[in-house]
Amino acid sequence: MTVTSDVLSAIGGTPLIRLRRASEETGCTILGKAEFMNPGGSVKDRAALSMVEAAERDGRIRPGGTIVEGTAGNTGIGLAMVAAARGYRTVIVIPETQSAEKKLALRLAGASLVEVPAVPFANPNNYVRVAGRLAGRLAATEPGGAFFADQFDNTANRDAHVATTGPEIWDATGGRVDGFVCAAGTGGTLAGVAAALRARNPNVTIGLADPQGSALHRHYATGILKAEGNSITEGIGQGRITGNLDGFRPDVSDEISDAEALPLVFGLLAEEGLCLGGSSGINVAGAIRLARRLGPGHTVVTILCDGGARYASKLFDPGFLRARDLPVPSWLAEPRVIDP
Ligand code: PMP
Repeated sequence: MTVTSDVLSAIGGTPLIRLRRASEETGCTILGKAEFMNPGGSVKDRAALSMVEAAERDGRIRPGGTIVEGTAGNTGIGLAMVAAARGYRTVIVIPETQSAEKKLALRLAGASLVEVPAVPFANPNNYVRVAGRLAGRLAATEPGGAFFADQFDNTANRDAHVATTGPEIWDATGGRVDGFVCAAGTGGTLAGVAAALRARNPNVTIGLADPQGSALHRHYATGILKAEGNSITEGIGQGRITGNLDGFRPDVSDEISDAEALPLVFGLLAEEGLCLGGSSGINVAGAIRLARRLGPGHTVVTILCDGGARYASKLFDPGFLRARDLPVPSWLAEPRVIDP
């Protein structure tokens, strides 16, 4: 046990948890890095801290300044936490389709929210583009100025995973990691961990697990970059090569449907006590596929990005799932009723 000087020093150093059923079914060791244990509740705490520290070093953010970001939620929660601890304010632009729980967490973390319709990046009303414009405007009017964190193209995001997540995986496994796989939102986690692991072992296999309809899998497989996303998972799926993905290429990639990922989320909760969000289901599905490719005896690592409580009203709501023809586990559909 350690004593930390503040909440930000508690970011990172998360354990790798052996996923029992996935490991048994593949004959491999499948490990999930428990990023939901970060103080802000997700893998994005690392990127948030890294982007703010880089901006402080470069003088792009001043004391009392305002951090502006376009985010599906988790980066905003991380940024609001870093901002509160370091004396900044936060303005978050979020697509209105994101879960109510994440919006509440953002408000509780002290962020001012701007909700916008969910439209593709090409549309000027896309949340990232609105955030960029808003940051430009607030830079002139906010006391202390404004800083656009720009997680998609700001490579301080990826750097966090090169410096911490990747080395932590290497050290925790004693270098015995044969494959790493995860989904991409900004691509910071995937490209950053890949760079750190490849620098230590060029033979490690790096996999992309892409949600249904996302453009990246098709891009790496066929060269065509076209998104038709309709996954209920949040925070992942990308329609362009972001600054954080620039120069990166996975060794293998898979497109994972919600119907494949969700039963894994439900199984991990009911049988292994792990309450996770939808992107973790995509990641575990990708890890199982990569383990099958590599064959028994290998070690595959993936990311458990955030916790399921952030999605109670969607992922764990039988009505929401049924309306989308997605599987509803019996314990969720008919919870056991005990007569007092
Ligand atoms: N899962 C969740 C729940 C997320 O919020 C994000 C970040 N948007 C990711 C995965 C993907 O992480 P990255 O941005 O590093 O690709």
